[in-house]
Amino acid sequence: MNNSERVLVCAPFGRDAELISREIRLAGMESVVCGTVQDICAGLSEGAATALLADEALYSQSVDDLSRALARQPQWSDFPLIVMTSGGETTETSRHRLRLLQPLGNITLLERPLRTATLVSSVRSALRARRHQYQIAAHLQERAESEKELERRNHELTIANRQLEEFAYVASHDLQEPLRVVNTFTELLLRRCAVSDTEAAKYAGFIHNGIRRMENLLRDLLSFSRTIAHEHAGTTSADLMRCVAHAVSTLNSRIGESRAEVTWSDLPVVYGEEAQLTQVFQNLLSNALKYSRPDADPRILISAEQVGDEWEIAVSDNGIGFEPKYAERIFGLFKRLHKEEYPGTGLGLAICQRIVERYDGRIWAEGKPGKGSVFHLRLRSVAQVPAARAN
Ligand code: ADP
Repeated sequence: MNNSERVLVCAPFGRDAELISREIRLAGMESVVCGTVQDICAGLSEGAATALLADEALYSQSVDDLSRALARQPQWSDFPLIVMTSGGETTETSRHRLRLLQPLGNITLLERPLRTATLVSSVRSALRARRHQYQIAAHLQERAESEKELERRNHELTIANRQLEEFAYVASHDLQEPLRVVNTFTELLLRRCAVSDTEAAKYAGFIHNGIRRMENLLRDLLSFSRTIAHEHAGTTSADLMRCVAHAVSTLNSRIGESRAEVTWSDLPVVYGEEAQLTQVFQNLLSNALKYSRPDADPRILISAEQVGDEWEIAVSDNGIGFEPKYAERIFGLFKRLHKEEYPGTGLGLAICQRIVERYDGRIWAEGKPGKGSVFHLRLRSVAQVPAARAN
């Protein structure tokens, strides 16, 4: 027997319970006779569709027991009780019983003497309502399980991500040392070879190039893993005027060599860490210098505009630009559009993106081949940062 389909019947006097139970079974439903209200309570905990109770079984104690058993039901449950009463509200005793029943919740009263059709239809609709409740319960259970599964997978993903970050860090860090050894001994070896050997000099050039590229790659990879692993240092407001000034002074000699002009308007204080946002400007300015046009000195402009609660910073240049369809792709790891002509590792913009997103910001790019590029940053103004997180 499926417990959730059971109709529990409790009518302590005479043969009422057997007769009612028989009618229910004849109507194609499952029925169990319970001697006392306590048996109904026990039946409830094992699962049931509804319970049919004669009101003479209800007195203060049994109603209390029933009320406790119903309170133990799971949250989704609204157990349908059918109470067969005699006398309605006509006598003091029946009125008292009706008052007793009120806290029990989902109750249907059936006046006696009962008609079979009334009994069967009431039980049937209680059964139907209860089936819906069980369906909802199953649905809730399924949802809870899939949420748990999702949580588990998320946890696994976090661990896998952390391991990957650690791997990238360790690999890029530890590979630097053997590379230095390769570099040193290749040089020694080449010095021993005939210096005049042009073939050997050509190969030496290739080796040096390879080593330099690998060094740059390891350096940027290390910087990328450091960015990911970076924890909030506690300082949460960054003066972009200072960030840009710092980035420009770091790139000063390159700016001079390329006859570049870098100008910036009034820049705001935003939510973020100064050292990290300085790194963003350094990467963007470094790119603007690198991807400049051979026929025009670089002109780089940094401007800011308030948009609602945020600031939009634009870093624009007059360089070689790029096809608009690549605007998103260039933020991917190791993604490069100008591979052969310009040195690089394809990690600079990925680092910028990770930093900006850490402060709930956004970064995107616009470009046109031969017409320059604009890199936009959306950053929260400090006033928007909850007091607990601000300086
Ligand atoms: P890298 O410069 O080391 O290649 P980045 O992640 O900084 O790596 O940039 C990714 C790619 O985006 C570059 O290879 C280049 O093709 C393109 N790019 C970045 N900045 C600019 C720019 N200012 N103008 C034109 N193209 C750019």
